[in-house]
Order: sequence, then structure tokens, then C-alpha cells
Amino acid sequence: MGKSVKDIDKKYVMNTYRRYDLEITEGMGANCYDVDGREYIDLSSGIGVNSLGFCEMGWVASVTQQVCKLNHTSNLFYSQPCATLAKSLCERTGYSKVFFANSGAEANEGAIKIARKYSYDKYGKGRDKIVTLVNSFHGRTVTTLSATGQEVFHDYFFPFTQGFEYVDAGDIDALSKLVAKGDVCAVMMEFVQGEGGVIPLDKDFVQKTAELCAAKDLLMIADEVQTGVGRTGKFLAGEHYGVKADITTLAKGLGGGLPIGAVLTAEKCASTLGFSMHGTTFGGNPIVCAGANYVLARVDEDFLFSVEQKGEYFQEKLARLDGVESVSGLGLMIGVRIKGTTSSEFVKDGISRGIIMLTAKDKVRLLPPLTITYDEIDKAVAIIDSMLSAYREVK
Ligand SMILES: *Cc1c(COP(=O)(O)O)cnc(C)c1O
Repeated sequence: MGKSVKDIDKKYVMNTYRRYDLEITEGMGANCYDVDGREYIDLSSGIGVNSLGFCEMGWVASVTQQVCKLNHTSNLFYSQPCATLAKSLCERTGYSKVFFANSGAEANEGAIKIARKYSYDKYGKGRDKIVTLVNSFHGRTVTTLSATGQEVFHDYFFPFTQGFEYVDAGDIDALSKLVAKGDVCAVMMEFVQGEGGVIPLDKDFVQKTAELCAAKDLLMIADEVQTGVGRTGKFLAGEHYGVKADITTLAKGLGGGLPIGAVLTAEKCASTLGFSMHGTTFGGNPIVCAGANYVLARVDEDFLFSVEQKGEYFQEKLARLDGVESVSGLGLMIGVRIKGTTSSEFVKDGISRGIIMLTAKDKVRLLPPLTITYDEIDKAVAIIDSMLSAYREVK
């Protein structure tokens, strides 16, 4: 059985993913099972998506109730789950209006369009550049690849969307110089660079960027696709920095396992896009919004506090392990630099030891379900420790 799924997949699914040799068949919370019934502790959440873990009962109930009631309407009509979600997101974050998309890249596309139109409306043509950070990641569409500040993403698909410039994270002077040219309309950043290696930005740099954006009427865009919805122990990672961007994008963890993206806009750019200037067929779908509404109801202040506590606990335990060079991150978004092996080898080994982790460049990246228990964290740390000891013995 398992073999045949792999074979069929290899034959018919496009070859863009280097899949691990693992077929997951079911899961509950932070545990899942492969086709042979072997158990795994999941520290990946499907790349930060299953914020409440696999198939949390209340989430399943909310989603299935919605499936049975109304599956889709299109954006030509009103529907309750979409309106409710927009209201809760605005009330939780202080933003004014939301656009719903289907993925992180698509949410960022929306943010980029808003930034350019905001500037065009006020200042006319020629003020359209968007500054992003070196080592950032903003998505896989042609435009968000342009926005991504890593050369490896700028191959093959020429011509890329014009109008992106890059500065090193932390280099406020370089940013000021670029902005001084007068053709910049926005600055876009992840507060913790996720794919780039789980690297939190410097607080002073973020605050100075926000001040610069306010002074020059540039829109500050926070890509919180990975950091948002409680991942770092705050609803938005911007709260750690004391900064509220003009636009925040969300996606990964928002739907609890369903595809959704959201563009949150502050008052000044909430009405920048008017009728028929942007749209999507699936955005705001009732089923997906029902999942997200359940996630938002769960991720309250107590929940966020527990994420913060568990994040600290997990990070401290990891940092004390012999064989761990460094630990970075915020909340339950954790990067670990391992001695003696590559991150991808370590993650591959982890699967054979019953633990699912991710990589982010040279770091092992952990994005466990936000509902992971202390007991599960202890178990995961014990497995990681035993893996590290095997490397120590080899050396
Ligand atoms: C994953 C990610 C994206 C892209 O999201 P998709 O849903 O894969 O399009 C964009 N920005 C950040 C910060 C991400 O982590």
C-alpha cells in the first residue's frame, strides 16, 4: 500500500518537492502515524499550518458543520464565516479592513498591489519601489520571488517583476539612503526571518524602520505569514517589537490546516483598493473561514501566554543539550544549529527516530503545533538528545 502511493506520486506529481520517505496517514494533536502505523512527534505543523495540531476535535466539528451547511458562494455574495473572520481579525489586531486570499504568496501580492496603488494615488507615477531584506522569503509567485531577497530565487523565470531593492537586515543607514532617492513606496519584512534561518530582526532596526516609513509616508508591510496568529507567543510578532505595520499579511497558521491568506490594512490604506481592482475566486471561502474562526477563538490571551511559556521552556532545554551550538527564535518558532552534521541530514535522521522537524538553511527549524504539551516537548527533546549523542560518538 505505502509503496504504491509513493510510486504513483513519483510518477504523476510534478517533481518540485524532494519528499522525505514518509507517508503520513493520520494524526491527532502533535502525533501522527505513517502507513505502517509508526508514531511520530510532529514539530513541523505542516510548515506552521496546523496551529492546533492534527485534527483538533473542535476544529473538525466547526469545519464539518460548515461543510454540511454551505461550501462556497463566491465573492459576489455575503457569507457569515467570512464577515465574522474579518471582524475578529480587525478587533484582535486593530486593523481596519481585511482582504482574504488563499496563500501567503497571494497575501503578499495583495500587499504589494496596495502599496503601489496607495503611492500612485497620492504621488503619481515613479514612486513604486519596494525595499525588502536580504535573506527574506516572501513566496513563489513571480512577483514575490522578486520580493524575496535571496539570489537563489532569482533564476530561470525571467523577466521578474521590477521594482524591488534589498538591504541587509539591521542596516538602517542603507535603508535611509535608498529611501532618500524618493522612488520608494514601501518596506516589507518578516520580523523573524523564517525560511532564512529563524532569525529575529533587531528591535532597534524594526522601530527605526517604522519611524522612517511614517516620516516618509512609505507603507510598512509586515509579512507575518509564518510568525502570525500566535506562533511567537503574541498574536502578531510585531507586538514583540512595539510596532504596528501599515499592512500585515497572514497565512500559514490562520486556517488551522486549510488554505487561507489575509491582508490586514490600517486605516490609511484600508480603502486603497476599490471595486474590481483585486479579487480571487476562493478567497473568504466559508469552510476555510470556519476553520480560521475556530483557530481565532482558541488563540486567546491565555493560549498566547502558554505558547510564550512553552517556547521559552523548549528553547532553554534545547540550548542545554550537548551538540547544540545555538538556539534562536521567538515563542514556538525555533531555529537550532547542530554541531557535527547538516540540518537536512539531522531532519532525515529524525524521521527514522520518530520525530518530524524542518530545516531553514543551516538550522533545524521547529514549528510544533501551538497546542503541544510539556510532556511531548520533553519526549521530543529526549529524542533530539539521543540523536545528538549518536553524532558525538561518531566523532
Ligand atoms: C511560507 C511563507 C510565504 C509563502 O506562503 P505560501 O502559502 O507558500 O505562498 C511567504 N512569506 C513567509 C514569511 C512565509 O513563511
